[in-house]
Amino acid sequence: MKKPITLKNYYKTKHWRELRRSYVSDTSCCAICGVVRREKYKIGKKKGSWKPKVRRLNLHHKSYDNLYCEKENDLILVCTRCHNLGHALELASRSGVPIFQEIYSFFKASTQWDYKRRQK
Ligand SMILES: [Zn+2]
Ligand SMILES: [Zn+2]
Repeated sequence: MKKPITLKNYYKTKHWRELRRSYVSDTSCCAICGVVRREKYKIGKKKGSWKPKVRRLNLHHKSYDNLYCEKENDLILVCTRCHNLGHALELASRSGVPIFQEIYSFFKASTQWDYKRRQK
């Protein structure tokens, strides 16, 4: 019997890596805060020298329903900071404290971060 693939293993597959690569380019940016993955900025020490800045971008699953054949709307490209924020807000909203639920629903509305637990 074939073992059901775990998310952890799924993220190691060629399929996922290629899908990820198709989303992430040097000029792609976070869907939430707009930070660009690679951007030149001036560094202070030597006048006129430019260094690339690299911010990691994560491909977040808004929905796990179509694992392996994700639709465009199932995924959102976000920087590590916004990704962590999104998941932290999800967790906080489940604590039942109204203010967290309020912040999360605001976040959801503005990002379409429609989080659904993976269905078994
Ligand atoms: Zn961001
Ligand atoms: Zn995520």
